[in-house]
Amino acid sequence: KLLRPKIKRVADATRLKFGGTRTVPTPTAAAAPTPSTPSILGLDALFNNPVFAGGIGLAGLGAAAAFGRRALISGAGLLRRQLLVNIEISKRDPSYNWVLAWLAQPRDNRGFLAQRLTRLRNLSITTATKSLSPRGVGAADEGAAKIHADFRVQPGFGRHIVRHAPGVYIAVNREKAGTATTATGEPHETLTLTLLWMHRHVLGDVFTQAHALAQSFQQGKTVVYTARKMEWAVLGKPRLKRPLGSVILDEGVAEGLVGDVKEFLKAQEWYTDRGVPYRRGYLLYGPPGTGKTSFIQALAGELDYSVAMINLSEVGMTDDLLAQLLTQLPEKSILLLEDVDAALVNRRQRDPDGYSGRTVTASGLLNALDGLAAGEDRIAFLTTNHIDRLDPALIRPGRVDMMVRIGEATRYQAAQMWDRYYGDIDEDHVGRERFLSRLDELGLFGGDSKDPNVPKRHTSTAAIQGLFQFNKGDMEGAIRMAEGLIPRTFEP
Ligand code: ADP
Repeated sequence: KLLRPKIKRVADATRLKFGGTRTVPTPTAAAAPTPSTPSILGLDALFNNPVFAGGIGLAGLGAAAAFGRRALISGAGLLRRQLLVNIEISKRDPSYNWVLAWLAQPRDNRGFLAQRLTRLRNLSITTATKSLSPRGVGAADEGAAKIHADFRVQPGFGRHIVRHAPGVYIAVNREKAGTATTATGEPHETLTLTLLWMHRHVLGDVFTQAHALAQSFQQGKTVVYTARKMEWAVLGKPRLKRPLGSVILDEGVAEGLVGDVKEFLKAQEWYTDRGVPYRRGYLLYGPPGTGKTSFIQALAGELDYSVAMINLSEVGMTDDLLAQLLTQLPEKSILLLEDVDAALVNRRQRDPDGYSGRTVTASGLLNALDGLAAGEDRIAFLTTNHIDRLDPALIRPGRVDMMVRIGEATRYQAAQMWDRYYGDIDEDHVGRERFLSRLDELGLFGGDSKDPNVPKRHTSTAAIQGLFQFNKGDMEGAIRMAEGLIPRTFEP
């Protein structure tokens, strides 16, 4: 409609110019508006107005710019989708911490630009402190009461660029994921690695290197997990493996247990062929301080396993929580349930004041043990100081396959421990015999049945170890102070 008058006018003009008959159009014929298109000439005038035409031009340019911008954005998005690859790691995944540690590794960034680009400027720090370990696994044998701190620097929140190899860069974005929290109440986080599609093959290297790095931290160490709220968390730093030989049980006991566990680990086929859950339970019982927990830790070190430890007398441990924890045991770990006597048949009977304690019941313990995840090998060690308090249903193959009493120190154990401490300075064993005779005199090996004057008593291996530790390199001191091994009794 807008173009029509123009064409018409051009046609008129042509006719005017080239027409054979030189008719001069009357102004009325050319300008007279036809009644059907009254506005066309009005628009015409509008378009001829320079201000209006300029405005239209500007608007057109603006629209083109906006369109261009949109096209650029969606083009960039498309390019990003086509050329880049993103990988998101959630804090819940074990690789999260491995990759963070790997990212914080010092890198040899040759070249000015690479250094400028990839220097981590936003760091965060994780501090692990260790004071006297809780009773049991890895209890500080040296009796060290100092606090040891270990600092680890990690990439902080935000974006970073890391140079992986010459010409291969990885963009890293560490961020808190909204208001979500992990089961331990910490804010949930994600880590996103972005790299060029053509470099995607390096992702495999990244995870392999991060895993190897995590393992190198644990080389020669035993990781101990403990229950924190609803999930397993590493307890302190991985500890140096405890050599099996450093835990001295009575003659043949340690060998018997280690042999049985190793047999079990070789027998997966036997279990799967028969459809029997592939698990084995051990119950170590006896008085405290006899090396039950230390032995389990040393065994884990020997097998290259970690220890997943739960103390059943812990406040807040319930049937549901126990069941949940046992279904998500860390892989390649020995389950250690301490103080299983805490799961009494009827806890309320013991608390007549109406205390309905949040504790594990005997049936809760049985159910949790029976539900131990199938598939992977499961080794469970249960410990108790009070075998008489246990639910007899617990001691049934599949739940407990082997029961071993780890008792008070025997003459054999005292001699072995002496050799470990003083073997190099007591080559002729004279000191050892004097020490053992002194313990006999004190009646510490259960007394002398023939001589009623010798009291019948016992001491613990923990006490002997404490004595030797105190008298390091001093045999005479150890013999002189042997009397301190007599257990103290408290008269209420
Ligand atoms: P339990 O679990 O039987 O109560 P622990 O394993 O916690 O005993 O031992 C407590 C401490 O005594 C540890 O520091 C441990 O090294 C030492 N200890 C106890 N028994 C032995 C043993 N048989 N051999 C070596 N050390 C022992």
